[in-house]
Amino acid sequence: MAEHFDFLALGGGSGGLAAAQRAAMHGASAAVIESGRLGGTCVNVGCVPKKVMWHAAQVAHTLEDAAGYGFDVDLRGHDWGALKERRDAYIARLNDIYARNLERRDVTLFRGRGVFRGPHELEVDGQAITADHVVVATGGKPRVPDVPGADLGMVSDDFFDLDSCPASVAVVGSGYIAVELAGMFAALGAETTICVRYDGVLRRFDPMLQAQLMAALDRSGISVRTQLPLSGLEQSGDDIMLAAGDGSRICSTEKVLWAIGRTANTAGLGLEEAGVVLNSDGTIVTDEWQNTNLDGVYAIGDVTGRAELTPVAIAAGRRLADRVIGGMTDRRLDYDCIPTVVFTHPTIGTVGMTEPEAREKFGDSVRIYESGFKPMYDQMTGHDSRAVVKLVVAGDDERIVGCHVFGPGSDEMLQGFAVAIRMGATKQDFDDTVAIHPTAAEELVTLT
Ligand code: FAD
Ligand code: NDP
Repeated sequence: MAEHFDFLALGGGSGGLAAAQRAAMHGASAAVIESGRLGGTCVNVGCVPKKVMWHAAQVAHTLEDAAGYGFDVDLRGHDWGALKERRDAYIARLNDIYARNLERRDVTLFRGRGVFRGPHELEVDGQAITADHVVVATGGKPRVPDVPGADLGMVSDDFFDLDSCPASVAVVGSGYIAVELAGMFAALGAETTICVRYDGVLRRFDPMLQAQLMAALDRSGISVRTQLPLSGLEQSGDDIMLAAGDGSRICSTEKVLWAIGRTANTAGLGLEEAGVVLNSDGTIVTDEWQNTNLDGVYAIGDVTGRAELTPVAIAAGRRLADRVIGGMTDRRLDYDCIPTVVFTHPTIGTVGMTEPEAREKFGDSVRIYESGFKPMYDQMTGHDSRAVVKLVVAGDDERIVGCHVFGPGSDEMLQGFAVAIRMGATKQDFDDTVAIHPTAAEELVTLT
């Protein structure tokens, strides 16, 4: 006999957990089906272990800088394996906390792979589960290109299984994962190359951020090889040889990491049989309310292919439960003005439109305020570094439509500015705000 719930989430990652728990808080009987570790990509092979590795890389940079601040430091190496053990233990604690949270909120957890048997019926290991409201939150997985020898390369999931730092690595791709993991490899000792198929990294970001990051990668010894569509990988002794589109050999490295985007987890879920319409890239078609084409069936998070970020999946899930269970009929996630940080060294913080996007939308009414400076921290280390802040404003009232920050601290700086910009802040509002001195953030309220 089928077990019935008011609300069921397929996938216990950021989105599914958030949605089911919010539904339960509104009084619904709620359940989650999860085939892997609770917490999904973010907790197990994404944001969390990534940020731990980012901190490790940051410590490595700080140790290099210590002499500039008068310290005599004798560095005897880095034990990647020991860090991994502590990191894995931390993640295991988080997995337990997530399980306890479900218990505490009375959300039923089915462990196993869920498959649709009808629009409102799923099956897990022979157990039928039905629900009035079903949300698909199955996330995605790293994409591997269809080229010869592709399986010689690893993907971001494998990065978190490494017990030691490779001597050399080639990272293929130009997005978030490529630049973040390349920075960690390089700081922790790998000779690192990024191979991109066009002219640079982060091509969807504001041009200032792209240019600054390219320069910073160069300064940190990471080589970026441009205009290199890869035709395949070959084993060459202990190393892997990368071949270019024209058949020429590019370089040979101990490891190759594919970081070319992700594919939605929709295959084999019985979605199409149940009647759910997918896009050509396998993501689920949703409207602005997270509705699929079927009544009472929704999709949130990475599986929808929109703004693949943890807080987006969580926000979409909570708002969905508020709407369909909590009776808040106009609750939905607004996908405009989502702030995001790229955890490079230094970090990048960005919210709103890039300059080209703003010019396309607002034409000649766009004005740019920008300031570049050498961070005070590096006045002592002697490093040749640069921080840049940029505001994109539009209209007679100079409403801020984009804010882009390259430099140390931009990760923590951006959240507060994102609130102001979402509330409709103008350049004058920023000018009227008293600066905090001495910080890098004050540059954003002193731009002329
Ligand atoms: P997921 O978290 O992927 O959860 C989906 C869950 O569904 C998984 O647990 C999976 O096992 C389960 N599942 C799939 N199919 C089934 C099935 N048939 N039955 C049962 N369960 C199933 N975002 C940020 O905001 N900040 C960051 O710093 C950041 N860093 C990242 C770093 C890396 C390396 C990666 C890969 C991603 C990063 N992200 C980051 C993105 C973020 O992890 C995702 O946007 C987020 O996890 C999406 O949540 P989700 O709920 O949509 O999917
Ligand atoms: P991204 O979408 O960020 O970048 C992938 C890029 O790889 C593409 O934009 C494309 O850039 C390039 N690419 C695509 N196909 C190929 C190919 N065949 N050969 C070479 N290059 C190719 O994907 P990621 O995998 O880096 O990350 C997935 C998502 O996870 C991100 O979009 C982000 O939403 C999320 N994430 C968020 C993080 C954060 O918040 N800090 C960190 C990590 C991930 P081009 O067209 O320039 O070649």
